[in-house]
This record gives sequence, C-alpha cells and structure tokens, in this order.
Amino acid sequence: MRQVRVRFAPSPTGPLHIGGVRTALYNYLFAKKNNGTFILRIEDTDQTRFVEGAEEYIIESLKWCGIVVDEGIREGGNYGPYRQSDRKDLFRQYADTLVDKGDAYYAFDTPEQLEKLRTDSEKKGNTFLYNASVRNNLANSLSLSESEWKKRLAKEDSYVIRYKMPKNEDIHFDDIVRGHIVVNTDTLDDKVLFKSDGMPTYHLAHIVDDHLMEISHVIRGEEWLPSLPLHFMIYRSFGWEPPLFAHLPLLLKPDGKGKLSKRDGDKMGFPVFPLYWPYGETAKGYREEGYYPEAFVNMLALLGWNPGTEKEIFSMDELIDSFSIERVHKSGSRFDPEKAKWFNHHYLQCRSNNELALEFREYIRAQGFHYDIVHIETLVELVKERVSFVKDMWQETDFFFKRPETYDQDVIKKRWKPESSAQMLELKSVLESIDEFKPPVIEQVVKRWIEEKGYNTGTVMNAFRLVIVGASHGPHMFDIISWIGKEETLNRIDKGVTIIGKQS
Ligand code: GLU
Repeated sequence: MRQVRVRFAPSPTGPLHIGGVRTALYNYLFAKKNNGTFILRIEDTDQTRFVEGAEEYIIESLKWCGIVVDEGIREGGNYGPYRQSDRKDLFRQYADTLVDKGDAYYAFDTPEQLEKLRTDSEKKGNTFLYNASVRNNLANSLSLSESEWKKRLAKEDSYVIRYKMPKNEDIHFDDIVRGHIVVNTDTLDDKVLFKSDGMPTYHLAHIVDDHLMEISHVIRGEEWLPSLPLHFMIYRSFGWEPPLFAHLPLLLKPDGKGKLSKRDGDKMGFPVFPLYWPYGETAKGYREEGYYPEAFVNMLALLGWNPGTEKEIFSMDELIDSFSIERVHKSGSRFDPEKAKWFNHHYLQCRSNNELALEFREYIRAQGFHYDIVHIETLVELVKERVSFVKDMWQETDFFFKRPETYDQDVIKKRWKPESSAQMLELKSVLESIDEFKPPVIEQVVKRWIEEKGYNTGTVMNAFRLVIVGASHGPHMFDIISWIGKEETLNRIDKGVTIIGKQS
C-alpha cells in the first residue's frame, strides 16, 4: 500500500455537522491505524458560501474530539498552503492543461440562458444535462468558431471552463465501501471546473490538491458518490493515478427516514453539532450539553462502522487499533439520541469522584452554596449512577442543600400513618444521642430501636424520608442524613412533623 496520507477537507460554510465530524474521525482512525498522516485542508473556494468563524469552529471541534491534525493551516507541513484560497493561483494552469488536451472547453452561456434551458427541460419532464447531447448548440469553444470564441475571451466576456464528458462511454471504477461501479457518460453533464470569478470549483480544486498533497485515500461522505465518475475521468485526463475512494454512509434521522438535520435535533432536543454555534442562527453543541468527548467520539465511531464483535465501549486508542474501512457499512446509520446519552452515562461512571465533584461544584456554586470538595465527592458517589450528565446531578440532590418547602401530598396520603408524628419525634431523640453520625452507625442504632419497639420498618422509613426529602425519592436515608448532618436532620424532623402533622 502507498504511504497513507488522508485528508479531511471541510468547507467553512457554517457549523460542522456531526456527519462531518464522523468523516474526520474515520480519516483520522484510518491514518493512525496505518501509520499515516492526517491532513486538514480548508476548502473555501466558494466565496459565496464562506461563513466567518466556521474555520475556527472546525479546528476547535477536532481538538475537542481529540483528533490530532498532522498537517494543516495551523500545523504547517511540506504540502502547504492548506487553505484552498491561499492556493488560488495554482488552479488556473491545471484548467488550461485540460483545455489544451481537448478535455475541457470555454463556455459563455449566461446563468439566465442556462436557467431557461433547465426550466424548459423540466416542463417536458426531463433533467437538463449540459453534455454531448446539447453542447454543440450552446455558446462554447466547441460550438463556436475559433476566431469567435477567441474574440470573446479577448473581450473578457464572462465564461467558465467545463469538463468535456465523452459521449456514450462506460466508466468503470471502484469504491472500497461500494465495490465496483459502472456509469455511462451520457448520464453525466459537463461540470464546471473553473468559474467566472477566477476560482476553481470543488471538482477541479480538490483533485489538484489531492494529487499535489499525495493523498492515498479519499474517505468522505456519500453525497460525493455521484461525482465520483467525473473525478475518475479528471484523473484520467491528467494522467494521474487516482487515490482509493471510500464513501461513508449517511447519518439518518432517528426514525431512519432521511438524512439527519438540524431540524430533527431542534424537534427532539438533541444537538447535531459538536460545539455550540454562536453566530446568526445559533445551534446547540454536544460539548455544551454536557457530553464528554470520549462519549461523543465512541458513539460517532459506531455510527457506520462495527468492530465485528459485541464490544461497544472503545477509547480512541482502541478505535485506532480496531478500525478498518472494510467494516464500514453500505447502508445509512440511524442516529439514536438515547444511545448517545447511554455512552455519556458510561463515561461519567468512569470519572473519579474527585473529577465529578470539581465539575459539579460549579453547579452548586451557581445555586449559591459552598461546600468543600471532599463533602461534594461523597454526594457525587451517592447519585452518579442515576445521571448521564453532571448538570442533571442538581435535580437529584437539591434536597441535600435545601430543606423541603413542600411535602408530596400523595405520599402523605399513602405513607403518613396516625402513629407517624410520634414515631418521628421518638426517632429524633434516638438520632440526637448518636455521636458518630456516620451511615453504618446510624443504621445500626435506628434498626435496633425499630426492632425493640416492634415498629413497622416501612412505616418508619417512609415517614422519615418524607420529612427529610419532602418526597419518596432519593438515595439511602442514612447516607442522606449523614451528609446533611445531625443538626439539620433534627431540624427537618421537627419542621416536617409540625407541617405534615397539621395537614394529615
Ligand atoms: N469540501 C468538501 C465538503 O465539504 C469535501 C469533499 C471531499 O472530501 O472531497 O464536503
């Protein structure tokens, strides 16, 4: 195999969709697996679609995911510049080479004329193709006399350079994911290679750049598959060896019907972008929603590829180790927002209590409470299994910080017995006598008391939870009261008995 050199070549036209991040990830995994080079090339030749901030966003997204760029606009390298607009002057000569060879030509048709041809065709139920079937009747250097088209060039009439697709030829080519493909040229049109604004189109620019950058494998989204025959033809015209191609399956909506879009995310409440997008129409990001990059990467890796085993949890190094293009699926991969949360839940459990406590401390502070980190670590240990995100810890623990304001009426009805008030006040004095207010100690004392008195454990503990939490949820009671402390526990019993006692 050639020395592996792959590129991720996004256009800075807005926030990077998670499908794009997956393309970057597969390129990266493939490069690292094969001791190759991962290149980031910014494809910004379409000036009308350029969006300020998008380039920065792309770089930041890759960094957050742990995808390390070997060669790129920031890193440099021997094949630069890596931003296509900085290579602008390079492309014209390649377009000219194709014209000289007779494989491309000048076309002078105006956008209005082309639009009319398109709508006329559509009215007849056809798709307009600018190719061998019509090109001789249109305004180009193949139909016009040489003196005429040269005159128009000299006058600086607006023109584009189009690829001359041969008539009725079967093009054979291969894709690593799709296998062997045959396409007849009569179904293709003469794509524009060079635009009237002096810029190359994607088709020309990326082939020239892939060639000059010695790209060995082009791994990209399925949306480019229809252009692949054209790309093979352009390589053939230049006499260059094409790279190997792998077109990745689409990411589908959760119901499997169509491509995953920002609208789906908005509707169902999940992000379709790695980071928050702050410009214009803003968009949610996985990072800001509280996902860990490991979870995000792990989830993305399995959307379109499988390791051939049941294993689901992969670190980046394990992904590199296991990845192979041959295991990329042909069919689209359905995005599952619940699975994304499942991955985050897993990675959250892998974090140490100290790491989680440091994260959670920010939320506690935002609520106006201040606790030392060791105390927060104990709390985190009690609730982490119940949450997929640190931000959700607050709603699981708010009663640790605040006395209940209200008491769940349904629980009162069901669980507060006529004897509960007296039992709670008795329990208060039992607890008062405990010096070492630690869960095992408290548990032992309370259980012994219940036994000696012959009380019903359920009745006591349900009422106890109600006065401490205000509801019927939460971790182990002895863990809760040990955390909030003796004094607070006794106060809550008093308050609970007073209020609930009046209500029941
Ligand atoms: N600039 C193209 C895009 O953003 C790159 C396609 C390719 O990888 O060839 O989709």
